[in-house]
Amino acid sequence: MVKAIVGANWGDEGKGKITDLLAETSDVVVRFQGGANAGHTIINDYGRFALHILPSGIFYPHITNVVGNGVALDAAKLVAELKDITGQGVPAPNLIVSERAQLLMPYHVLQDGYEEERLGGKAFGSTKSGIAPFYSDKYAKTGIQVCDLFDEDRLWDRLSRAVELKNVLFEHLYHKPALDIKALYDQLLGYREMLRPYVGDAVSFLHNALAQDKTVLLEGQLGSMKDPDLGIFPMTTSSHTLAGYGCVGAPVPPAAVKDVICVTKAYSSSVGSNTEPFVSELLGAEGDELRRRGGDKGEFGATTGRPRRVGWFDTVATKYGCMVQGATQVALTCLDVLGYLDEIKVCVGYEIDGEVTDQFPTTPRLMKAKPVFETLPGWKSDIRGITDYDALPAGAKSYVEFLEKRIGVPVKIVSTGPERHETTFRK
Ligand code: GDP
Repeated sequence: MVKAIVGANWGDEGKGKITDLLAETSDVVVRFQGGANAGHTIINDYGRFALHILPSGIFYPHITNVVGNGVALDAAKLVAELKDITGQGVPAPNLIVSERAQLLMPYHVLQDGYEEERLGGKAFGSTKSGIAPFYSDKYAKTGIQVCDLFDEDRLWDRLSRAVELKNVLFEHLYHKPALDIKALYDQLLGYREMLRPYVGDAVSFLHNALAQDKTVLLEGQLGSMKDPDLGIFPMTTSSHTLAGYGCVGAPVPPAAVKDVICVTKAYSSSVGSNTEPFVSELLGAEGDELRRRGGDKGEFGATTGRPRRVGWFDTVATKYGCMVQGATQVALTCLDVLGYLDEIKVCVGYEIDGEVTDQFPTTPRLMKAKPVFETLPGWKSDIRGITDYDALPAGAKSYVEFLEKRIGVPVKIVSTGPERHETTFRK
């Protein structure tokens, strides 16, 4: 069976920790979308890791890790990451890179940077890792699949077509140097050798694994709000962040997905640019304090190091985020972080044009939304590392139950610290 671990919000919900935890009792972990533009933080016996492209199952010898066809594959980063983790004492993981995955090319990264430069102050705050140009090329059918690396005539032909288009754009729109096709071709042959040990038929592998009753985890990147169709377009990413896309990007059959675990933090955080709507944002000294205390080392992007914007828990966004994911359960992380507060606010509605709603709106209306808060008492104690839900202070349990009622999905996992077993399970 398949369990999807996906984000209900803006990303950085703690999916990496939950995936690493559930991988203990699973067989396969698959990354099915996104690229190296975000990071999953994992803290376990080997140390602290920020994984960007490798699936979070790589710390277990019993897990097969799959980089699915839906991923934007930055080959150089994948290999560097493998080197990094093995250098820190992690045994070489079992890894399959789908032969159908497409390659994130050096010109995607260049194009991302050039476009942000062209947009100036109107930029979307891209991480400049080439994700938007990569997915644009995939759907324009000018992308290069991993399997193309193993057919040199075809590779040259596909690369020539892509470079022809890029050069028009680079020289005439961005006024930048043209690409050197021979250098790119040689670089691709280098990627081929780096990837060769891992390339495989992930499609058959996954279908066979499911036929043998294996447990497959789908590991999402970012969260519902960043989905290009159902998120806060255009301040989204360029691949689908929803569990449903796992059926294409992993791929697994829709009927095999039995559990959709939506991860959400006990407060809000978003690494997006300041122009993005973030209704329950906490600014000033209070925001600084939450940012400093958040996550395992403060709320700073695992990939970019950017300070994350932080805010109160937003039940409007999270309820919607869980709905579009098709959540069967919620994993609430970082509850321990809130132990310092006398009172905790929760955003329970949006006021838009004088009316209050609990329905998550489209972007033009979202831009006008103001938060409606309810205030709950804090529990004023350190709950880090508690593993028995019943042992939590009454205030912390009431907080969880309040959120659960508003979201409308059972909160079955409550995380009380960044480490693997700092977790409680609710019946
Ligand atoms: P992901 O991309 O969804 O995996 O999330 P990130 O790794 O980018 O961000 C989550 C942050 O929260 C990381 O710093 C984690 O180590 C941390 N974290 C996860 N769960 C908990 C928790 O229960 N408590 C605390 N204090 N930190 C947590």
